[in-house]
Amino acid sequence: MPSSLHMLPGAPWIAHHEGELKVEQVPLQRLAAAHGTPLYVYSRAAIEAAASAWSDAAPGRDVALRYAVKANSSLAVLRVLAELGWGFDIVSGGELARVLAAGGDAAKTVFSGVGKTDAEIAAALRAGVQCLNVESESELQRIDRVAGQLGVRAPVSLRINPDVDARTHPYISTGLRSNKFGIPQALARRAYTGCAQLQHLRVVGIACHIGSQITELGPYLDALDRVVELVRDIEHHGVALAHIDLGGGLGIRYADEAPPRPAELLAALLARLDAAGLGQRPLLLEPGRSVVGNAGLLLTEVVTLKSSIERHFAVVDAAMNDLMRPALYEAWQDIVAVRPRDGAQARQYDVVGAVCESGDWLGRERLLDLREGDLLAVLSAGAYGMAMASNYNTRPRAAEVLVDGDRAHLIREREDVAALFAGERIAPR
Ligand SMILES: *Cc1c(COP(=O)(O)O)cnc(C)c1O
Repeated sequence: MPSSLHMLPGAPWIAHHEGELKVEQVPLQRLAAAHGTPLYVYSRAAIEAAASAWSDAAPGRDVALRYAVKANSSLAVLRVLAELGWGFDIVSGGELARVLAAGGDAAKTVFSGVGKTDAEIAAALRAGVQCLNVESESELQRIDRVAGQLGVRAPVSLRINPDVDARTHPYISTGLRSNKFGIPQALARRAYTGCAQLQHLRVVGIACHIGSQITELGPYLDALDRVVELVRDIEHHGVALAHIDLGGGLGIRYADEAPPRPAELLAALLARLDAAGLGQRPLLLEPGRSVVGNAGLLLTEVVTLKSSIERHFAVVDAAMNDLMRPALYEAWQDIVAVRPRDGAQARQYDVVGAVCESGDWLGRERLLDLREGDLLAVLSAGAYGMAMASNYNTRPRAAEVLVDGDRAHLIREREDVAALFAGERIAPR
């Protein structure tokens, strides 16, 4: 694992200058004093740079970018991407409401997810989404019925399960036939030709998404080969597919991973599509993590240092409810001191939260020189951080700040404890 002497994953926007960690030009010590901790901090420039890496990746080609909202659904983050002309990939009616509230364009929004309800489908059709990515034949019937009630034709794209191994953590692998996602390849043709009988549907494309934190090209190319095969077969049976959606999933560097850059991924995908004679087809992509992951960090204060016979613990004021990835996937994220000390009292610390679960840790065996009251930053926390936060242990969720040059904007207030139980009632006896 890298030491803090390595280039940090969020560099150059998140880096130490003169002994102090800054996001762009803003010292984190100042943000902690102004807004308290735990605090999520994002760099606008880092988000924009990661977004440009996608949008500049294949000049002159018909590639449409649909940011996967679930990675970080804060309105200010969605607005940054909407302003860059991005569309969105949503997985719930709640995310649709967020996209609309942030000024996103429904006509550039695709609706994925295995369990869309009638109400969610109706809301998406009323908003005028680009398409619904459909995950079963039963869902096709459901969408047809809801569209009929609204008197519209629903644009649909079928999400195929290509049965490829994304070679990532099992909890974030979605393209294996044992996963709940997508329509098995063997049933795809029947599902597509069945659409002809459903009067309130309009087939617009084909989709797949094989998983997250993918660090190699191979699984994408395997999935694309399956999709190409299906496009040929389905079009041979008389159903035209306007666009091809290859989902998201590109990984980022948390430790020493070296995922392909968006330009490399797109070059490989487009070459393969060209070779198959499908290079003119509009291509949709749904990146989430790779857009925001390294653009954010979680700032936290050391509350208590304690040692057991075997271990040293740094108990911090952020916990698994704020950042779930370590507890959920045993994910490794770099943890650095905001003002690194000289190392004279460095120890291997387990950095843990105060939640009553032994799985509540943010990092294990990290060499740090700490005192109580020091600030730490958990890096690469821009994706699947705040978006997965909960109120477990009646802990209010953190505040969020978006840094832009030398300015820092509070984009989400710290949650208030009273608000956590405002909707609750004591039952009469
Ligand atoms: C989660 C998800 C994505 C984004 O995945 P990342 O790994 O964050 O890029 C894209 N498409 C669908 C359908 C998803 O569920």
